[in-house]
Amino acid sequence: MATLAHVAAGLVIGRVHAQAATGASRLASFVVFTGVAVLPDLDIVLSDSRVGGGSVLAHRGISHSLGMAIAVGTVVWLLLRRFASRWPPLRTALAAGIAMASNGLLDIFSAGGEGVTLLWPLVDARLQSVWRPIPDAPVESLLTTVRGIRCLLLESAGCLPAFAWALSRRAPMARSSHVALQVIRDSWGTKER
Ligand SMILES: [Zn+2]
Repeated sequence: MATLAHVAAGLVIGRVHAQAATGASRLASFVVFTGVAVLPDLDIVLSDSRVGGGSVLAHRGISHSLGMAIAVGTVVWLLLRRFASRWPPLRTALAAGIAMASNGLLDIFSAGGEGVTLLWPLVDARLQSVWRPIPDAPVESLLTTVRGIRCLLLESAGCLPAFAWALSRRAPMARSSHVALQVIRDSWGTKER
């Protein structure tokens, strides 16, 4: 499991979502979207105990699909529009959907483990890139074996630029998301706070 890569993706998405916010508001964005980026891997509990490895409910199954990411983004958008929230519905829904999708997209490039049913429900096939540079250490051996520690160090080095960008005081390009969302809002004719 590419643990740190998922955390790095969540932090980057959280930083883009937070835009100019600082302090507790930025921290909340980091926590929420890092959580959403890691959320699909809860399916490992199911695959270990209740379903076979070939099932779409197994690890890297439907929870890792783009269909699930779209569904989560849509639910978040509907909920935030229905209930008053300090977070803008469209920006937050896009961030949630992208965070959810990031897990499966990164796992495709993970050196170990099974493929990802990325295109579910259109296609059940498990996809995997021929180029898989992200090291994949079994979670239980991350800090207890030489291989686990080596994988963790390699993944840390690869994720360092993302961590540095997300946690920097003034992240370059963070405001560019505001411009992109403005274009989407204008084209949809929606009002975003
Ligand atoms: Zn995963």
